[in-house]
Amino acid sequence: MLRIAIQSKGRLNEESTAMLKEIGINIDDSKRKYLSKAANFPVEMLYLRDDDIPGVVANGSASLGIVGLNEVAEKGYDVQVVEKLGFGACRISLAIPKAVEYTGVEYFEGKKIATSYPKILKEFLDSKGVSATIEVITGSVEIAPAAGIADAIFDIVSSGSTLVANNLKEVEVVFESEAVLISGGNLSEEEQSILAEIQFRLESARISRGKKYLLMNLPKSALEEAIRILPAMRSPTVLPLADEGWCSLHSVVDNKDLWEKVRQLKEIGAEGILVLNVDKIIL
Ligand code: ATP
Ligand code: MG
Repeated sequence: MLRIAIQSKGRLNEESTAMLKEIGINIDDSKRKYLSKAANFPVEMLYLRDDDIPGVVANGSASLGIVGLNEVAEKGYDVQVVEKLGFGACRISLAIPKAVEYTGVEYFEGKKIATSYPKILKEFLDSKGVSATIEVITGSVEIAPAAGIADAIFDIVSSGSTLVANNLKEVEVVFESEAVLISGGNLSEEEQSILAEIQFRLESARISRGKKYLLMNLPKSALEEAIRILPAMRSPTVLPLADEGWCSLHSVVDNKDLWEKVRQLKEIGAEGILVLNVDKIIL
């Protein structure tokens, strides 16, 4: 059994659960217990506030955690990032009132900056040789300049609409974040093998994401051209058809290239093209 700490509610909760489901780990969190076991895999979930996840992973109360890289960096515990998970993307940026002219990072010298991320901010300011006063507030950071609490803010930005709504402009992107899988490092042999299985499944999910399976009938004379158009994992599968001049061609393509590939294949005579979703690819 291996324990994974995830956010109990908030921006990362749903996607963390969905990601585990995608790799075949079904958690019943309908009963809203703080600990719940997966029905079909040797893991149990520990539901916490995201602030507490790096700490419980560092002290071994949970073996793994799913949390934003921003929290990992801010808390500064000794944990390892095992996988980047590709969701919960955001950045932590410095922002100032829209009307103020920005002259570069030295603008912040002697200024007061409100933030919930004092450690990341201090490291940034130190690296630039800027000294400013850091005002720690834990929520509604964006109102600080208008409320006279600070001259600037250092806060999470994703679309930027909160900044616009508060008459602020983003002037320095300091930290890029996404959700990550973290480990405390001290895993038993059993836990290591469960983690290896999780990583194997995550890799498979990553490879299959955005892929489509293509099948079509093709004149044999166009086969070489079609193989050039469709670089598959090894090479496309070619099956004979009852009609000697034709074959059936199967391949996997990136969804982003799908319509371009379909156009090219039609041009060389492909017919009856079927496009199917790919559930999993195991290499
Ligand atoms: P908790 O109650 O668990 O402490 P919280 O209010 O601190 O929750 P959320 O707002 O749920 O945290 O955000 C969790 C994480 O989601 C952030 O730490 C960050 O990694 C990520 N995230 C992605 N986009 C955004 C965004 N627009 N605003 C805030 N966090 C975001
Ligand atoms: Mg939090």
